Amino acid sequence: MSGIAIITEACIGTKDRACVDVCPVQCIYEFDPVTSVLFSEVEAGNGVIENSHAPNPDAVAIFGDTLLYVNVDECTSCTACYQPDICPVGAIYSEEKVPDGTPGASYNAEDTSKGHDHTFFIQLSRDVFAD
Ligand code: SF4
Ligand code: SF4
Repeated sequence: MSGIAIITEACIGTKDRACVDVCPVQCIYEFDPVTSVLFSEVEAGNGVIENSHAPNPDAVAIFGDTLLYVNVDECTSCTACYQPDICPVGAIYSEEKVPDGTPGASYNAEDTSKGHDHTFFIQLSRDVFAD
């Protein structure tokens, strides 16, 4: 499906959850290193768990709880989270538009990691939720 959201490098260390606030299907997850579970909440910040997954340990170990992860199998491509006014650091792209760092690659205006190859995060998004 086109339009699946991918969270990339700039979220690392920012993780303000603004994208969580606009996702209608609670498919943006946080990793809890204490319980080793990926979870999303019914409403952002209310602590009531809507969905949870056991992460692939090797994949989640790369960045742990420093950024959020979209479950691409649950994302409906609604586009809400990657509208320009949502992520303060421009970290979210639709899968087809994740920039690869080559000359001419197009970055979000607010992306604090402009120029980097973000395509790693496409596979990471899948690997984190893989059995
Ligand atoms: S809005 Fe951007 S920085 Fe904030 S949690 Fe989502 S991807 Fe990360
Ligand atoms: S595109 Fe829509 S459904 Fe997918 S993660 Fe973003 S807000 Fe959620």
